[in-house]
Amino acid sequence: MIDVRSFVLVVNCGSSSVKFGVFSGSGREPILSALAENLGQATSRLVVKENGEKTEMSLDGGSHDVALQKLLGILDDKDWLGSVVAVGHRIVHGGEQFCAATRIDGSVLHDINGLSRLAPLHNPANVLGVRTAMAALPSIPHVAVFDTAFHATMPPAAYAYAIPQDCYRNLGIRRYGFHGTSHRYVAMEAVSLLGLDPQDHGIVIAHLGNGASATAVRNGQSLDTSMGFTPLEGLVMGTRSGDIDPGALFHIAREDGLSIDELDTLLNRKSGLLGLSGLSNDCRTLESAAREGHEGAKLALDVFVHRLARYIGGLATSLDRLDAVVFTGGIGENSATMRKATIEHLKVLGLTLDEDANSQMFGGRCGVISTAASKPVAAVIATNEEWMIAHDTLSIVTSTEAA
Ligand code: AMP
Repeated sequence: MIDVRSFVLVVNCGSSSVKFGVFSGSGREPILSALAENLGQATSRLVVKENGEKTEMSLDGGSHDVALQKLLGILDDKDWLGSVVAVGHRIVHGGEQFCAATRIDGSVLHDINGLSRLAPLHNPANVLGVRTAMAALPSIPHVAVFDTAFHATMPPAAYAYAIPQDCYRNLGIRRYGFHGTSHRYVAMEAVSLLGLDPQDHGIVIAHLGNGASATAVRNGQSLDTSMGFTPLEGLVMGTRSGDIDPGALFHIAREDGLSIDELDTLLNRKSGLLGLSGLSNDCRTLESAAREGHEGAKLALDVFVHRLARYIGGLATSLDRLDAVVFTGGIGENSATMRKATIEHLKVLGLTLDEDANSQMFGGRCGVISTAASKPVAAVIATNEEWMIAHDTLSIVTSTEAA
């Protein structure tokens, strides 16, 4: 039986950092969260946040296992450890195999590790997180929640690339889509916030943060999304280019003699808002620079908005009807300027902005930002991937126990 006080620990493990969140029951905010950074380096540290207060401690050069042990020690001191009933892990790539959250055993972990060939930067770190947490907490269930899973409902017309299909069959080259946990959460919230019929609705969600993607959702299911085989395709991002003619890459490689790895760095780390502006990957910095007349910043924001509006319009064609366009992520939740510019680009779809409502929407607030006459509606919904992972984890554990 699950204790009345059931805590779920959410682990989001990167190569040199780990984010932890402890969720209690159905509470949407973590009762404690922690970020371990610079793991494996002399400066490794753990920053713990509880009740709005931050405490920082050194990990003395320790790595992921040291960070987790430190966190478990903190939970133990609070007498919370015994109430942790399960651990939910964010896993970036589930390939075609994992279409929903899955309880982890040896064979599941083996398969997630095998999917590292599709996500060499992410899955190995996620697997390390699972191994470390399973070693420390062997007697409770561990659940994998995949970034790709929500997009498993895309039809072949949306996920196939127009290349010889041997590349798909032999190498798995297709659109997978990412940010799925965020899109799923926002899609669910949009139905209740906007009073949509759960069985009959169409929305486009724009998740705009340092990484950015847009998804068409019909009746709770993803039908198309802007990210592709990797999280590089689609919208303009902080340092990622999003779409670019692959022919331009051949040209850059031939003319400048760039290696594959150098091209990878160019497109993943030096492009996007940073590459366009020559100034920063940070939207806030660019907005204030643009106000002061910085041409690069203006160009970067203009390209960002143009590409986004183009994607929203394109994704709408997967739907029977467009009921709403929903903004989320750091930029989508906080930047009235970027939302305004995007909605002005989307007049053709019938969207009109309520400027007052738009200016009030920041810092986690959710609500409608379009006028009463606007059809579709435009709205802001703060995403909550960590809670979604905790929720999925608890659902799996509860249903397994009930079975
Ligand atoms: P995320 O990756 O979701 O944390 O989002 C990070 C992005 O959100 C960065 O580009 C930030 O500059 C941007 N952001 C956060 N707050 C604001 C704000 N008030 N105005 C504009 N951009 C913001």
